[in-house]
Amino acid sequence: MVLQGLATLLYRLEVGVKQHYITISAICWILLLLTSAMWNIWQLRHAHQAQHLKVARSFFGLVVTIREWNAQLGGVYAPITPHLQPNPYLDTTNRELYPPDGPVLTKVNPAYMTRLLAALAAEKQDVRFRISSLQPVNPSNQATAWERQALLAFEQQAQEFYTWDQQAQTFTYMAPLIAEASCLTCHAQYGSQLNEIRGGISVSFSTPPVNLNPILFSHSLIMLVGLVAMHIVGQQLLHAFAELEARSQLDGLTQVFNRGYFDAHLKHEFKRAQRHNRPFSVILGDVDNFKAYNDLYGHQAGDHCLQIVANTLQLVASQTDGFVARYGGEEFVLILPNTAASSAHSIAEQARIAVERLAIRHPGGVADGYVTLSLGVAIWHPDDYAAATMLARADKSLYQAKQSGRNCVVVASEMPALMLDCT
Ligand code: GH3
Ligand code: MG
Ligand code: MG
Repeated sequence: MVLQGLATLLYRLEVGVKQHYITISAICWILLLLTSAMWNIWQLRHAHQAQHLKVARSFFGLVVTIREWNAQLGGVYAPITPHLQPNPYLDTTNRELYPPDGPVLTKVNPAYMTRLLAALAAEKQDVRFRISSLQPVNPSNQATAWERQALLAFEQQAQEFYTWDQQAQTFTYMAPLIAEASCLTCHAQYGSQLNEIRGGISVSFSTPPVNLNPILFSHSLIMLVGLVAMHIVGQQLLHAFAELEARSQLDGLTQVFNRGYFDAHLKHEFKRAQRHNRPFSVILGDVDNFKAYNDLYGHQAGDHCLQIVANTLQLVASQTDGFVARYGGEEFVLILPNTAASSAHSIAEQARIAVERLAIRHPGGVADGYVTLSLGVAIWHPDDYAAATMLARADKSLYQAKQSGRNCVVVASEMPALMLDCT
């Protein structure tokens, strides 16, 4: 477990990179949700606008129909009341009628009727009509800036003009009034011609605010749930990944680093030494006469023995900046960064003594019938051109240690290997 933690730590950098993937995924998720929310809001506003447009067209159509009815009759007469006064802008000979036995009647033409209807609608309903023109007969029908814009657009073939002021919550619609044959009866005197745009009628009404809360709430909820799920799953994946990484670097039997990890780090340390001209050492250790141990106690006992030896070497390595790896079979290797010859020899010697002191019975062994270790040490030298040459020197030293009777340490000098502490 401790080693797995160490391996995880060493690969923290890589895990950090993978953590970025989670962050990037989270950012993409947020952007996706924001885009979806904006799209939904746009759709909702668009649907509302289509609805308002439909209502406005209906109102406009209704007013135009009523005007047409009036125009076809050539105007209608109604009794003069405080609310219905004669239209001063109606230039006609028979504007008033005086029936012998009734109230005086005044003529209500389409334009006047529109104004009367508009006044009534404004009073009773939430709808405002307004008739306007660029050349009005009645000055109060003078177009406002917005209406002028609409009227000019109609002259450029626009069929309708509308604005939805969402701040003011008002929808305003305008469509042109086209001079028809029935209109010309009266309007011909003002120079109007058939199918000419005489002005327009604007319709405006208040609109309820668009309720964005359901969209905002649902998207926030989905975003939050997604982010939490991403975080939880992401952390679990990272954890699993780190554990897998750690496992892939460990030797299954002894739980020290495996050969692959060692190879990668040896190259790394070698390059570092070359760059900074810093010493580092490699120690190769091999259990003595281990075949005989297996033959005597069986492979299971042999495995157990290797685990104990690995654990012991791990303890020695933990006092240094280095680490221990299983090189293969019953061979182990220690990498010691920033370690020169004397220290490397001392650490190798500590390892040898530590294994010897385990006092694991091995009748076929060399030192009083106990399990022992032979070690070969190589120190990085500026003339080394590859990690492999250094390792070859360590192997040669180990061979010399074996040749010298086992259970000893040999430090490779440039020439020849220096033999130390052999039994
Ligand atoms: P030397 O002192 O010259 O190294 O002698 P040795 O017997 O240790 O060397 P040899 O290469 O002849 O034998 C190595 C033995 O290590 C043979 C093999 O069965 C044993 N061995 C290698 N890996 C394992 C393992 O994972 N488990 C067990 N139980 N034995 C192993
Ligand atoms: Mg061997
Ligand atoms: Mg051996």
